[in-house]
Amino acid sequence: MQENKDNKKSIQEKLELLKYNCANSSHLIVDQKVCAKCKDKPCTFICPAGVYSKDEITGEIIVQYENCLECGACRIACPKNTIDWSYPESGCGVVFKHN
Ligand code: SF4
Ligand code: SF4
Repeated sequence: MQENKDNKKSIQEKLELLKYNCANSSHLIVDQKVCAKCKDKPCTFICPAGVYSKDEITGEIIVQYENCLECGACRIACPKNTIDWSYPESGCGVVFKHN
């Protein structure tokens, strides 16, 4: 019953159910110089958690690593292969199953 109910939730609603143990530093590092030359910036629309966005004033890529689902899509989608991607430090990151 609970499973059927959860399947009807929107992605946004499902994301809100997740818990995170936030690390003190980012496990996702981008090279802003390389990003500045990246025309389409696919990281800003491929990430299901909206981790990447463009700062409209500076033009730099903002990385809200705290919201990362650790799916790896961004590192595959980045055309410049510039994302230094690792898992969050031990014990940190998203918690998919919890009570
Ligand atoms: S897709 Fe890669 S190179 Fe392009 S803006 Fe994002 S991180 Fe930078
Ligand atoms: S690993 Fe997945 S959730 Fe995390 S930043 Fe990359 S695309 Fe987004």
